Order: sequence, then structure tokens, then C-alpha cells
Amino acid sequence: MKEYSIEEVSHIVRPELGEDIPLTLYRILRVIGMRKILGETTGATLYMMGKQVGTMIGARDLDDFSAKIKELKVGIPEAQVVEEDNIVVKLYECITCAGFANTGEMFCDMESGIIAGLLETIFKKKARSTQTKSWSVGYNYCEFEVILY
Ligand SMILES: [Zn+2]
Repeated sequence: MKEYSIEEVSHIVRPELGEDIPLTLYRILRVIGMRKILGETTGATLYMMGKQVGTMIGARDLDDFSAKIKELKVGIPEAQVVEEDNIVVKLYECITCAGFANTGEMFCDMESGIIAGLLETIFKKKARSTQTKSWSVGYNYCEFEVILY
């Protein structure tokens, strides 16, 4: 199977419809479709996918990290270095969960992976991100705790 680059998938010719898609379509694919097909492995799969994407995109520093996430419309991040090798990232307007009802489970695994992947490229260390807050557990933002190691 061929592997495609970001450059290849970014070449879009849609003169009438443009580059944007309805967020509802994304959420149907992501929250309904993928979970139906991948089941319990959805979270881990999306996390790994996100991490790969984050690593491919890369960031120079925390300002660039925020700019990239906002540019991709994944959300509006606020990263805080709590202590060495421990970063907390709040994500407002999360692509996956913003506005979601309180279902009692968190599922922003792709976002978690993207955050980890981008931070790896900044700090040149491995990163493990764990989601700690979400609209789907009663907050009005998403939060991720990242450990660098
Ligand atoms: Zn979220």
C-alpha cells in the first residue's frame, strides 16, 4: 500500500465547495463510523494516528504548537509547562467534543495523539498524553496531561 505525504493530500481542487467540510460529517466518521468498525481499539488507533500526524506536521516551540493546532482547527490550545517534563494542555473548541453531551466517557484520542506528536518534535523526547477533561464528562473544554520521557 502506498504512503501519501501531507503535500499530496493537501492538493485540493474543489472550486465550488472549497476546502472545508461540515464538522458534523467529521464527527459522524470519527465518533460513529470509526467506533463501529474499530470497537474497543478505536482509542488506541486514533491516538497512534494522531501522534503520527503531529510528528509529521511538527512544531518549533510552544507558540508554534498553538498556532498549528489552531490552524488545523483541531481547537484552541493553551499549553502550560507545569514542571519539567510535565505539560498540561487545555483545548477549547475541540474538534471532536465541543458541545457534546455528558456521556461519562472521554474519546478525544486523536487530539491527544496530535498534541503528543507535536510536543515530541519540540522537546525531542517521547511524549505520552492522557486526556483528563472533556465536554463529554461535563467540562466546557478538553484537557490533556502530557509526560515527556
Ligand atoms: Zn475534545
